[in-house]
Amino acid sequence: MEKYRTYLIFGAPGSGKGTQGKSLGSIPRFFHCACGDVFRAIDTGTPLGQKFVEYSSRGELVPDEITVKLWHTRLEHCVDDHSFKPDIDSLVLDGIPRNISQAEIMRDIIDVKRVFHLSCPDRSKLVERLRKRAIKDNRLDDANESVIRQRLETYEQESKPLLDFYGPDLVCNIDATQLPVVVFSKIIEMVARDAEADLASALR
Ligand code: AMP
Repeated sequence: MEKYRTYLIFGAPGSGKGTQGKSLGSIPRFFHCACGDVFRAIDTGTPLGQKFVEYSSRGELVPDEITVKLWHTRLEHCVDDHSFKPDIDSLVLDGIPRNISQAEIMRDIIDVKRVFHLSCPDRSKLVERLRKRAIKDNRLDDANESVIRQRLETYEQESKPLLDFYGPDLVCNIDATQLPVVVFSKIIEMVARDAEADLASALR
């Protein structure tokens, strides 16, 4: 199987991954998949839904095997119903992989072209954004101060090492405190450059 051509939107909770992922996914030939949304779509009455509630309500990651399997199954459905066409679409992922073990499991499935790191060293700004989102989107995991702190801690301990895993050739740091449209302009500039380079090499 050919690997999926993939862009990762990466950053701490509250850094704007969802907004940027959705924006990029709205452009023809890009398909956005947010792992958190895949989990939130599961019926909480099912054993898997219960697992999600158990871990997310503590601000922790759901175990890797379950997560990657769920994400992959969801993606394969999208291939089957033709909403994701891997032969012409680039995949835009946010929220996965979330640690090195997931990245290793996913190595045979995705070909990572770039990692857009939405950087926000000022944690108080992230906390503020998460609090606002909790009210707007009714996100229980963002409503509680200690869960927010745990989510940020999980990011520091488990997710951040992915920046070294992918390395400086793939990682593109973007200041996440800028206006969303400015952040998006930086992402789209790089993506457009890649698309043109691919087209030129295909014509060669
Ligand atoms: P998010 O909306 O991406 O912040 O995800 C909300 C919650 O879903 C996280 O706090 C985790 O409990 C769970 N989750 C989402 N993506 C992953 C992942 N890749 N690995 C493990 N857990 C995840």
